[in-house]
Amino acid sequence: YDCNFVPISNEEGFVIGGIIVFSDITELRKLEQHRKEFVGNVSHELKTPLTSIIGYVDTILDNDIKDHRIINKFLKIIKAETDRLFLLIKDLLDLSKLEAKKSYILRAAILNKIIDKTVLVLSEKAEDKEIELIKDVPKLLPLVYMIPEQIEQVFINLIDNSIKYTPDQGKVIVRAYEGDGKVIVEIEDNGFGIPEKEQERIFERFYRVDKARSRSMGGTGIGLSIVKHIIYNHNSEIEVESQPGQGSLFRFYLDIVK
Ligand code: ADP
Repeated sequence: YDCNFVPISNEEGFVIGGIIVFSDITELRKLEQHRKEFVGNVSHELKTPLTSIIGYVDTILDNDIKDHRIINKFLKIIKAETDRLFLLIKDLLDLSKLEAKKSYILRAAILNKIIDKTVLVLSEKAEDKEIELIKDVPKLLPLVYMIPEQIEQVFINLIDNSIKYTPDQGKVIVRAYEGDGKVIVEIEDNGFGIPEKEQERIFERFYRVDKARSRSMGGTGIGLSIVKHIIYNHNSEIEVESQPGQGSLFRFYLDIVK
């Protein structure tokens, strides 16, 4: 608590009483703490790839390296690190845009097209790992209320994660079905899974179960925060069921247009 004392004086200037004001600042403190942590995280995430880029550039310049094979090898690393930076900044901008805007208008739209498109976009990535990417969706789902561009992002992020965190030759299923006035969407994989105590934390910005693995997969640690935010905009919550070594299932609900 924050505490303030305001004295009350009489006409002669003698203090005859006072008002004590207690204000609950725990929320404010928490917000401030989160903000500091966030800035610290962002700085760290930006610094890591930059340090590596500077290191390789300096090595080439300081040692006057002329061997094209070595230069080429270094340039590939520099390119990968700049791609990482670019992706990180894009994710951060997406998230801050989502956080800045208070209200959205949900439109009546159909999920089938979005599912077809996102599965197609990610099919190559699945093929590279020989992962079977399965669509388990009726021909025509009922109309639901949504912000189509945002829901497309949710499918991309969730399917991309399932492919990333599932070993080669695994399986990813994109499922949608009708129930209880809603369309229920599930993205399921038989991959690495998530320990129970971490299942809530994975939606925090920059939280990763295995930092090294996420990094090597090109992850920024922001994808699921974006998903959580978008699903919240759709008056739903994102659920996760998972067993380490067995796989994970992410689920959300969209309201059917009556
Ligand atoms: P990242 O860019 O690291 O993938 P996300 O916010 O998308 O960041 O996910 C946060 C963390 O949650 C990941 O680093 C990973 O540890 C875990 N995770 C997300 N999806 C899955 C999944 N389908 N299977 C196992 N772990 C997952």
